[in-house]
Amino acid sequence: MSTSFDVAVIGAGPGGYIAAIRAAQLGLSVACIDEWKTTDGKPAPGGTCTNVGCIPSKALLQSSENYEHVGHAYAEHGIKVKELTLDLGRMLERKDAVVRQNNDGILFLFKKNKITFFHGRGSFAGSDASGYEIKVSGRNEETIVATHVVVATGSNPRSLPGADFDGKLILDNEGALAIPEVPKRLGVIGAGVIGLEMGSVWRRLGSEVRILEALPGFLGAADEQVAKEAAKVFAKQGLAIELGVKINKVSTKKNVVVEYSDANGAAQAATFDKLIVAIGRVPNTNGLNAAAVGLELDERGFVKVDHECRTNLPNVWAIGDVVRGPMLAHKAEEEGVAVAQRIVGQYGHVDFNTVPWVIYTSPEIAWVGKNERELKAKGVDFKSGTFPFMANGRARALGDTTGFVKIIADAKSDRILGVHVIGPMASELISEAVVAMEFGASAEDIAVICHAHPSLAEAIKEAALAVDKRTLNL
Ligand SMILES: Cc1cc2nc3c(=O)[nH]c(=O)nc-3n(C[C@H](O)[C@H](O)[C@H](O)COP(=O)(O)OP(=O)(O)OC[C@H]3O[C@@H](n4cnc5c(N)ncnc54)[C@H](O)[C@@H]3O)c2cc1C
Repeated sequence: MSTSFDVAVIGAGPGGYIAAIRAAQLGLSVACIDEWKTTDGKPAPGGTCTNVGCIPSKALLQSSENYEHVGHAYAEHGIKVKELTLDLGRMLERKDAVVRQNNDGILFLFKKNKITFFHGRGSFAGSDASGYEIKVSGRNEETIVATHVVVATGSNPRSLPGADFDGKLILDNEGALAIPEVPKRLGVIGAGVIGLEMGSVWRRLGSEVRILEALPGFLGAADEQVAKEAAKVFAKQGLAIELGVKINKVSTKKNVVVEYSDANGAAQAATFDKLIVAIGRVPNTNGLNAAAVGLELDERGFVKVDHECRTNLPNVWAIGDVVRGPMLAHKAEEEGVAVAQRIVGQYGHVDFNTVPWVIYTSPEIAWVGKNERELKAKGVDFKSGTFPFMANGRARALGDTTGFVKIIADAKSDRILGVHVIGPMASELISEAVVAMEFGASAEDIAVICHAHPSLAEAIKEAALAVDKRTLNL
């Protein structure tokens, strides 16, 4: 086996494995090193996303939503189920099987693209005229040399000071996706994407869920109108969300007691059977031995990069969660493709303004571009149009009419500046908005495009018509 490569990618999450595939497609010899393993020690490429993030969370969101629908929503369709029972073990097994399919798919893609995969930890060992030396420590120890290195080592969950993850009572995302029995009382710290998604899963399966959030406003990154609607719907579903809290102490014995001050500063205490801590993630450069080659990190521990993902070292690149920018799988992938192309001297396209954001709760929440608050802060003159799913035929047929589409366009040019969706299949609908914004479309452009009927996407067209105050179905 060759030990010299054009490119060595450290990390096989969505950033790393995609960078490796694109580099191989471009004719480079590529090694990809990843240390994630299954419980029986086998390689599990795909990173946080595949193993304990995007994929298993969506599997459980789907299963728990099916369970809730059978229990509640199906009766409205004339479907009655007598004895509904939950087989949580089977549900978790299915989730694990979905993860394994993705791990195996990536291993297959490595073979197909002639990428040499190393299962183990990759760390910088030095550099000389022939390139960078990377030590791989796993079952076997070996050293490879690469002309270019792509650091794609991802991120780890941030723990709450004084309340380390113990995998039993205080859980990170990995633990939150594998609770063996539905907890009666579930606490979640953090009402961000992960907290809301995990809270939704366990609420649907029967937990009493209470989410404690430090910030005074709900979903601060979303459009205010969307956040307001989401808060209303989640409260109706029974997700108790308390804002503006300050956690003072977390103690564990048989269960978890969280002592906190509420938004008015009054002392409160809550007892939970499990506590999920979802207060953000920190870049992971553990074991990379960045100091060996002088790879610069910033004050928060991210690998320092420019807008093209170049680090301070020649031919060393960094992408995904380990660098600045949104911690999203698709952002990591885009950076992976762009870096591979830049290595061979091609153009690499990544536009942060058109990165879509999605929260896979029910209703789903998705947006791209700017919201009203951001535009007001910048003094941009804009107009907006909204259209509710209540007035959309397909949503009525589905039996899911929560939410709306909102399109914000420049007041003069009509160019779309942001699109915000809360409602059924928002994660899929947002792609039309991303395409429109990438092509510099105006609201009028969407308004004149023929959309299939009946479809949820018609709500996008109607919102575009609403920008010009001429909706047809409202
Ligand atoms: C619960 C949850 C749900 C999420 N849902 C979504 C979602 O729906 N959509 C979305 O876009 N994003 C989602 N995310 C975020 C997404 O998972 C990350 O943004 C994405 O995984 C980042 O990709 P990455 O390639 O940068 O890093 P990672 O996926 O973290 O992969 C890094 C890989 O590098 C390996 N590694 C690290 N150091 C070394 C080393 N020295 N040697 C060898 N290997 C090493 C790790 O083992 C890992 O396999 C979710 C995250 C969580 C936690």
